[in-house]
Amino acid sequence: MTVSSLQIAVIGAGINGLVAANYLQRAGHQVTMLERSDRVGGACVSEFATIDGIRQDYALGASTLGLMQDFVWQETGLSDRLEIWATPHPDLVFFPGQKQPTQLYADASDLAREYAEKWGEHGDVAAYVTDEDRVVRFLQAGYRAGRPPTVDDAVAALGVDLASLWITGSARQLLDHYFTSERTKVHIAMDVSESGPVSVDEPYSAFIIPMMSSGSVFGGSYGFVKGGIWQITRELGRINQQLGVNLELSCAVHEVDPGNCTVRYENSDGDRLLRPDHIVFATDPQSAARLTGDTKLIGHTDGQKILGTSGKLNLMFRKPVQWKKGTDKPEADTAFRYFFATDTLADFERSTFAVIDGEDFTPGYFQVYCEGASMRRMGLDEPFDRLAVFFKNLGLGAQGAELPAVEAEVKEIILRHIANPEDCAWSRLLTPTDLQQTFGFPGGNIEHTMLVAGQCYFDRNYASDPQQRFYQLGEFENMSICGSGTYPCGSVAGTPAYMCVKELLPRLR
Ligand SMILES: Cc1cc2nc3c(=O)[nH]c(=O)nc-3n(C[C@H](O)[C@H](O)[C@H](O)COP(=O)(O)OP(=O)(O)OC[C@H]3O[C@@H](n4cnc5c(N)ncnc54)[C@H](O)[C@@H]3O)c2cc1C
Repeated sequence: MTVSSLQIAVIGAGINGLVAANYLQRAGHQVTMLERSDRVGGACVSEFATIDGIRQDYALGASTLGLMQDFVWQETGLSDRLEIWATPHPDLVFFPGQKQPTQLYADASDLAREYAEKWGEHGDVAAYVTDEDRVVRFLQAGYRAGRPPTVDDAVAALGVDLASLWITGSARQLLDHYFTSERTKVHIAMDVSESGPVSVDEPYSAFIIPMMSSGSVFGGSYGFVKGGIWQITRELGRINQQLGVNLELSCAVHEVDPGNCTVRYENSDGDRLLRPDHIVFATDPQSAARLTGDTKLIGHTDGQKILGTSGKLNLMFRKPVQWKKGTDKPEADTAFRYFFATDTLADFERSTFAVIDGEDFTPGYFQVYCEGASMRRMGLDEPFDRLAVFFKNLGLGAQGAELPAVEAEVKEIILRHIANPEDCAWSRLLTPTDLQQTFGFPGGNIEHTMLVAGQCYFDRNYASDPQQRFYQLGEFENMSICGSGTYPCGSVAGTPAYMCVKELLPRLR
């Protein structure tokens, strides 16, 4: 079948806009990308610090790669250009007062033994691992097919019991079904509130757990890109331009007219008008709705829950970080480390919600990504060692620079696990307010919207008739949306973009 080439405008050059443009251009269409910033990447970009007069790059937004599908990694052309690596070392989990960390072994029987030994877990760990794997494979098949989910599909593929446990149910029901130890439950509940204050009692909150393991680029694990994760968006921008995508930077789209499919934007030459055949919004849903001026869409997106409560602390060290506790394995310096401040689900929930009532910071958990050590494993020696700490819970109020006491507290929590804290030369705290201001994330939420019921699974769309076309924007047949607020979720993955384009392409013929 011949494909007639259509003009397509993609608004936003974050990972989703870039993946959408890549698939559309390779399918024979002419894509123009319009990006407000002066560089591609959105929330997947670098920044640099100057320490002792030496420049060191670091990841300003995202740090780790994991949720990307392997086929996106291959088909976009990224796999030919970049090197990635995931530590073979099990993740390490630390609860308050715990003498030695719990190692999260990939093998189910090793994991069950470790859980039992460290946390007194007597549940069915093997069943949990097997069932999660089935659910993940079901989700991945849907991603590949570009088939947005329905509960009926889940029931058909998994059966009523698994679908209600893993998709429609609450995380608490899921955790209580398989586990006995509060620490096991708290550790797994970490995924539920990763982007915002979502309760483990929320319907559909169980679904967030397999979703966060549904990447395939590292088989469900997380790792790093040589040079930094921003190489992904930077390189995809280059690949796209080589494919013929027309990339316009430093141009803010001000208005989109759905009636005659026009985009009004502004660049250094002034006001410009584009008349594409189709428009793909790769922005957050609120911005997309506002650009159309459609009152129904604006009302819908304004009514959504969008609060984010995650923060990030970047740290640089003059000498390689020496961890006080770990293992004797050579890769121990690259292991992901999770430090929990609470060890019961009740306290975990309290810390998740405390910041809604105005507190600046309530410690929940701290995920430490050993970026510098991982770069060294990939043969890249940088002037400074670096850690990225993604943590909970911060209120939406002040910027990181206005909270030196919080920055010092988070730093102290991490440095107490490090034998050479005196080598820490630099740090920078980002709060949800920084995320809102730097990346334009509404409410500072890294998913663009919260993963609460009504905004999860099949509800993560903005279409007037999602059964007809899930990624359509409102009632407008000539518009699609594929940012992080759409199914499945935010991350440096591009899955919403791939699924959106897969759905769209047959309709463009
Ligand atoms: C601190 C932090 C840590 C994170 N950690 C990780 C991590 O470790 N791993 C991971 O996978 N994910 C992580 N994430 C999430 C991940 O970075 C995002 O989900 C993802 O990058 C979002 O991609 P996107 O393309 O959907 O949207 P965005 O990156 O938000 O891109 C949208 C683009 O649209 C542009 N735009 C918006 N409005 C307009 C307009 N009117 N005109 C023109 N352009 C416009 C914006 O400038 C932006 O470039 C993190 C995010 C943050 C902030």
